[in-house]
Amino acid sequence: MERPLRLFLLADVILPLPLADTYTYRLPETMRGKVEAGSRLIVPFGSKKIYSAIVLRAYEGPYDDEKQLKDAIDLLDDAPVLLPSQLWLWQWIADYYLCTLGEVYKAALPSGLKLESESVVVYNPDYDDDNPLTKSEQHVLDLMERLRKQKVLDLQKVVEVKNVLPVVKNLLEKGALTMHEELRQNYRPRTVNCVRLTEDYFSQDRLNELFDQLKRAQRQADLLVRYLDLSKAAAALTLDNRSLLVEIEKQTLMEGQSEAAFRALKERGVLEVYEKEVSRIGQMDNWTNGQLSRDNGALSEAQKCAFDEIQTSFLKHDTCLLHGVTSSGKTEIYIRLIQEQIAQGRQVLYMLPEIVLTAQLVERLRRVFGSRLGVYHSKYPDAERVEVWKRQLSSQPYDIIVGVRSSIFLPFQNLGLVIIDEEHETSFKQQDPAPRYHARNVALVMAHHMGAKTLLGTATPSLESYYNAQSGKYGLVTLSERFGQVQLPLIRVVDIRQQRHRKEMKGAFTTPLLQAMRDALDHRQQIILFQNRRGYAPQVECQTCGWTPRCTHCDVSLTQHHGSRQMVCHYCGATYPIPQRCPQCEGYELLPVGYGTERIEEDLQKYFPQARVARMDLDTTRSRTAYERLLADFERGQIDILVGTQMVTKGLDFDRVSVVGILNADALLNQPDFRSYERAFQLMSQVAGRAGRRRQQGLVIMQTRSPELPLISQVVANDYPAFYLSQVEERQAFRYPPFSRLVYVHLRHRDHPTVARLAADMATLLRQQFGTRVLGPDTPAVSRVAQLWRRQLILKIETTASMADARRRLRQIRARLLSQPQYRSAQLFFDVDPM
Ligand code: ADP
Ligand code: ZN
Ligand code: ZN
Repeated sequence: MERPLRLFLLADVILPLPLADTYTYRLPETMRGKVEAGSRLIVPFGSKKIYSAIVLRAYEGPYDDEKQLKDAIDLLDDAPVLLPSQLWLWQWIADYYLCTLGEVYKAALPSGLKLESESVVVYNPDYDDDNPLTKSEQHVLDLMERLRKQKVLDLQKVVEVKNVLPVVKNLLEKGALTMHEELRQNYRPRTVNCVRLTEDYFSQDRLNELFDQLKRAQRQADLLVRYLDLSKAAAALTLDNRSLLVEIEKQTLMEGQSEAAFRALKERGVLEVYEKEVSRIGQMDNWTNGQLSRDNGALSEAQKCAFDEIQTSFLKHDTCLLHGVTSSGKTEIYIRLIQEQIAQGRQVLYMLPEIVLTAQLVERLRRVFGSRLGVYHSKYPDAERVEVWKRQLSSQPYDIIVGVRSSIFLPFQNLGLVIIDEEHETSFKQQDPAPRYHARNVALVMAHHMGAKTLLGTATPSLESYYNAQSGKYGLVTLSERFGQVQLPLIRVVDIRQQRHRKEMKGAFTTPLLQAMRDALDHRQQIILFQNRRGYAPQVECQTCGWTPRCTHCDVSLTQHHGSRQMVCHYCGATYPIPQRCPQCEGYELLPVGYGTERIEEDLQKYFPQARVARMDLDTTRSRTAYERLLADFERGQIDILVGTQMVTKGLDFDRVSVVGILNADALLNQPDFRSYERAFQLMSQVAGRAGRRRQQGLVIMQTRSPELPLISQVVANDYPAFYLSQVEERQAFRYPPFSRLVYVHLRHRDHPTVARLAADMATLLRQQFGTRVLGPDTPAVSRVAQLWRRQLILKIETTASMADARRRLRQIRARLLSQPQYRSAQLFFDVDPM
């Protein structure tokens, strides 16, 4: 006899942990009908830990092992925090990038939405409770007032509330507690009074009638006219005829107006006041809605052409590549495209690499889009990211989000267009930790899934994207002139070897570069210098015996840093004192070798004592404000020479830069990576593009030891097609992307013999499945980092083969190896489409 099947109310959930599977929990009867996919559920896991899990599926069904079934504790939200399209994307990412859903969950949600036992919450002393708290909320808050800062787990132990997590969540939402991450900036929503026309008056006829009635109430009529003017001004710029819905701040409206007239209009039911939460994100001090001034930039002929071509291309293609030289006015074209989308009631995601998303750009966009624009940046406080997230789920989501890599994870209810600016940027790829996703590629998949178009914009396309455009998969639109017909910069190549030979070098500077700099300074122009090494010197060497200090945790030499007066390992971050004597030969002559940005900065002060020099690299821009301050100072002309790493190559748009110096082009070329030439071309073209953007032609001095390389002349001639052809031939010959797909296999272990054995075993298993498509195992150039020995294998899969099948096999191999006891503490991960 079969037992009758028992049915349970169940939910499959994703935990924020690197677990291979989803887990199933039983839901209490009280949650019947309330739990949906995308809801946050509080569940126990492991020994006494609780997490907020994401529901993937809620259903009624049998469960084989009733005793094992754990109960969900609580439901956190009335409505899901994730839309079905997002859950779909999470699954796509986990599958494609060979990681777990838990890892995607961790990357996707801002911490404020990831409440768990380990989260640390902090009491907010500025909280004044205007809305009443429940008994348990008050209890927890009283306790927190004494404790100040507490892990949720520990709070649970001392509190008389059964489940503290939902209570904490409510207190977080009310602003009484904050997540620890936000300590820097306690967050509470800021509100302003806004004014709007009531719906009764949404027609021209009703308004005309009203104006008739107001014939003898001049001040009311004036006020109404002002209101309409302001709202129209704003509306005209957004090409939207919902003009009367535009938010007008009361303060702006009332300038020079009568308060009594305002009250009268309110009483007549014409105007109404409402409180609007304003985000602090990117809020400009001098910005108010309604005061929309703009040097109304009509598109140039070339821009208009490109704009039309993009629209046409979207009729045929889902994706279009806009290849426009630096300063050709791509941003202006994006703005028009965004306006079109908004007019059709659709949303836009405008994605940029982190360091290109500056206050400068946000301000430019905010002038056009006002409060319809949301900004999503990883360096903003978590609470602001939570706010953007929630607004995206609300009935009034942002029409446009400008954001970095992680903005791909935001909810979009009606996405029409994704713009990926600087699409070639490698920082769109997340390196560590998993998910090792490429935001551009994920965006393409997401846009396709949602029926949206994607525009890729850049002056230096990635080889893959250009290849897709050439082969007809993407549309291609080219914009080859700069806005205002400013000429592209003149690039002068200077041979370092020759200069050395003639003894004309001064430190890292050739005579022509020094001369050009002197000229620029004489003419009160600005200079950007690019040196791709931070610190003072990449190495220190004993003059007697050649000894150099190395990191004890990693297989690399240490970089000397002057600012912090220490030696630093750029791989693990460990620091050491600067050695006074050589431990090997006891010699005293330890000299710096090579030039980092710090040393360049120091030398500049010697050569140009009058010039104001600033440095922009990781060390000087740890905080977002530091970075923005540097940019602002440079823009205001308070800096004459800006020296920096890659950071100075991106997106800076300044008037007075007439000279750009590339101190050592060769450093970019000699990288052991099939993409090194592509990257070198991109970096050099981009940094060159910083010169002479507005008025006169700029000058770029490129110092190199290999002026005869074809790549150098391709950069000089700004000949992307020639560069593309030469590279694509090589990629084809050696079966590199886009002619194959790569998966890197990374292996790490504390113990050297173990990692070697693991690599050998991995190679055997891989070769059984993939044959000659497997390369390695190899020892990477830096063979040990942070005490872990490294090995690597490369898998090259032809584009015609089934990647889904390959991924399935890779998962099996990984599971098989990691289940062996000797590899239990090994790290084994895949990097799909590595950058
Ligand atoms: P890109 O993104 O292609 O490098 P930008 O969009 O930053 O170029 O434009 C370069 C410069 O030209 C900017 O200073 C921008 O303000 C100006 N510009 C571009 N298009 C217009 C336009 N249609 N009207 C006025 N100024 C424009
Ligand atoms: Zn020595
Ligand atoms: Zn180290």
